[in-house]
Amino acid sequence: MHFFAPDDRIAPIDNCTCRACGGADLVAHVKASSQGLTAKAEECEYIYYLCNECGSLNEFSEEGTFYKVAQEIHFANYYVDIIAGLEEMIAPIGSYIKANGSRDGQSFLELGCGFGFVVDYVGKCCGLQSEGIEPSGYGQLGQQLLEVAISDTLLGEGSPHDHKRFDIIYSAEVIEHIPTPEIFAATISRHIKPEGIAIFTTPNAEFIIPESPAAETYSALFPGEHKILFSAQGLQILLKKVGLAHLTVKRRRDSNLIAYAASRSGPIAVAEAAQSDNATILTREYLNTYRNSSKHKTEKISRLGLAMHYRLFKDFVNHGWADQAIFLLAEMRPSFRCEVDPSMDFSVSSETDDTSELLHEMLSLCSICLQKESILSQDHHLHYPRGGIAFGKNMGYYITTVIHQIFKPEPAPILNSSINYLNIFIDHCMWLRRGPHPFYHLEAISLIGPAIASLFLFQLKASSPIDEIKFTFIEEPWFKEEHPVSYSEIQIHLKTYRERHDALLVESFSEDISKQTINPIRRVLRQLQRRV
Ligand SMILES: [Zn+2]
Repeated sequence: MHFFAPDDRIAPIDNCTCRACGGADLVAHVKASSQGLTAKAEECEYIYYLCNECGSLNEFSEEGTFYKVAQEIHFANYYVDIIAGLEEMIAPIGSYIKANGSRDGQSFLELGCGFGFVVDYVGKCCGLQSEGIEPSGYGQLGQQLLEVAISDTLLGEGSPHDHKRFDIIYSAEVIEHIPTPEIFAATISRHIKPEGIAIFTTPNAEFIIPESPAAETYSALFPGEHKILFSAQGLQILLKKVGLAHLTVKRRRDSNLIAYAASRSGPIAVAEAAQSDNATILTREYLNTYRNSSKHKTEKISRLGLAMHYRLFKDFVNHGWADQAIFLLAEMRPSFRCEVDPSMDFSVSSETDDTSELLHEMLSLCSICLQKESILSQDHHLHYPRGGIAFGKNMGYYITTVIHQIFKPEPAPILNSSINYLNIFIDHCMWLRRGPHPFYHLEAISLIGPAIASLFLFQLKASSPIDEIKFTFIEEPWFKEEHPVSYSEIQIHLKTYRERHDALLVESFSEDISKQTINPIRRVLRQLQRRV
């Protein structure tokens, strides 16, 4: 990504005009490559021209193909696991509907709804008649898994909605992909009711300056995919041109614009009153609704359901609500076992309701997720029907946070057990290294690094002694050679701990780790070894 110097600010070759305002005074502002942020200047194939009239940025190469790519199943699973940007998607629409109050019989359409989380949210939590349009494979996947109404035909091109009008049409991060945004906005304008509202979110062109953080700037440009980045002024000009005379544009952080546009003033007054800071509460409401709809006592929670539970778990942990978090984990346990190891029987009940045992087991299941993920990332030909579970690493982190909240005065027993699991995991990495696929272990080790570091930090915080014998693996020469950063980080943690330990003269702590009765990780790792 390279910004043009003042002397180099050339105009586009053809008689191109600004896609936002129609202005002809355009100069090259920045260029970027789809090959990444650090591509050399001569490798940058996309030039973004700044409109001197409205401040929008235009890119004039051939049309992008963002929605035509078939979705690969592992990527789709990953997408479902992480539910990326759920709060960001829900906030603009949820806050508006809350501010609007009465909503009986109102209708909602989302254009470019992706998997359909917002369509589902609006239907389940707001009670609107809710539908979506999504031409990519995500739409059909979401239609099946969320059981929402998603059409794959574009509005005005034979979609089932061509002759309908809606109270709300929502379009999040779509208009910037479209080479003819005026036609897109005009289509939306024709399909909202006289008292209806159109809501758009899109990257902010004014954020694209050398002073902005490079990674965020690059993702806003999305070279090859984004055809126009609007300034607030450019977006206003375009929306007024298509008959949406009343509007307000809000900025989200500095990098994103949210536009509320209507042909009458009423809806805009509502939009201006909407609270934009309640995204976490709105999202929690959605996740809880989803949770309450699952029959977790009698049926395995789906992979998507587990991802929703995980998001809620994270929310509880972030707020320090340990009891609620544990309750949710207990709800997830049988399903999570089956997800990690499909041969496990859902109906097998847990041997005990002991909280510490629950946390032991869930942590070990997370380790197995990491293992699967690492193998998948190395070799996509290996067939794991359920794939790796992308949130394994993060969930492990959040479980250790819960452990900290609950066992704060005396966390050593559960920590020792966690360390034991990690060591088994590392044993397996060693085995992989010696086996027919010697590179599998690298990815696995890179995932273990942060887990170990957080355990160390946690242990330091809790002032509990570390049994160094259990960490002998870090003395392995290949670990030192190939992971100098991780290794030195661990050494720093160890050194800090030793100093503190010596100073405090804490009594040595011995723990009987042979007491553990549940150890699913051993069994699953054996199965993995047989398959590789
Ligand atoms: Zn312009």
